[in-house]
Amino acid sequence: MPNLIDPKNTIEVLKKYEFVFSKRFGQNFLIDAHVLEKILRAAEIGPEDDVLEIGPGIGTMTEALSATARHVYAVEIDDKLIPILEDTLSHCPNVTVIHNDILKVDLEALSKEQCSGRPLKVVANLPYYITTPIVMGLLEGHAPVKSITVMVQKEVAERMQAKPGTKEYGALSLAVQYYAEPYLAANVPQNCFMPRPDVSSAVIRLSVRETPAILVKDEQLLFQLIRASFNVRRKTLSNGLKNAPELGFSKEEIEEAVRSFGKGDAVRGETLTLEEFGRLADILSGIRERR
Ligand code: SAM
Repeated sequence: MPNLIDPKNTIEVLKKYEFVFSKRFGQNFLIDAHVLEKILRAAEIGPEDDVLEIGPGIGTMTEALSATARHVYAVEIDDKLIPILEDTLSHCPNVTVIHNDILKVDLEALSKEQCSGRPLKVVANLPYYITTPIVMGLLEGHAPVKSITVMVQKEVAERMQAKPGTKEYGALSLAVQYYAEPYLAANVPQNCFMPRPDVSSAVIRLSVRETPAILVKDEQLLFQLIRASFNVRRKTLSNGLKNAPELGFSKEEIEEAVRSFGKGDAVRGETLTLEEFGRLADILSGIRERR
């Protein structure tokens, strides 16, 4: 059935299959045509693009994506949605529905085998209970991903694009901004979904960088350092890092690093930019190499 975004058609499909929404799978289906248009515009899908959709639901966004994309790979976990998708997307020959948990799909193999290694554009109204593992998996994984345009909880979108010194700024902001350039494309109220979620949503586009925003000697140390700094918000950087045995540095080494970092003893982690975290990580790497 075409034009699934029309709430009447969504209701008809749900009735026909006696579909019961699953909270466990974060099912809030999109029923607003303006929002769908905004997602499509932000995702910039053209006839050359291979799209990965995570959680197609009854196929509302999939149908719209298939009209412009080269091919759409739609990964859906819920058994009950598979026969529905076979029906609703029967007029879309360039859609492949993959029945699996997105966290278990080998996206590198999918890109190699199905798309001759061409980069994927990811578009999704994400299940909110696993937003962070999905987005970080896409950014840190080995599959070529060009952009990620996703509906997420508004608060999560704000954290992804937050700047130093704000209350939203944290490890997620730095991890996302290391790999990508975020752009908030739209705020989306609760009444655009069926059923209505408890929280407001937003569409965020992450344009994945060809190389990370900064170059550091030890990427793992950079992220350990970032996590340790935000675990102890409102404490000084020096105290925070001394309480992080996972970093593997003595108190004296931390003091030496903070001294050569040159921002004073009272500096707090949540005020540092990504570049500054990178510089501090390299100072610590230097201290470790010298041992
Ligand atoms: N795209 C549809 C829409 O916008 O109407 C549905 C979006 S709904 C917020 C999230 C979808 O993700 C549901 O279809 C749900 O079953 C699916 N889902 C949840 N967890 C998943 C997982 N681990 N892997 C793949 N799909 C998942």
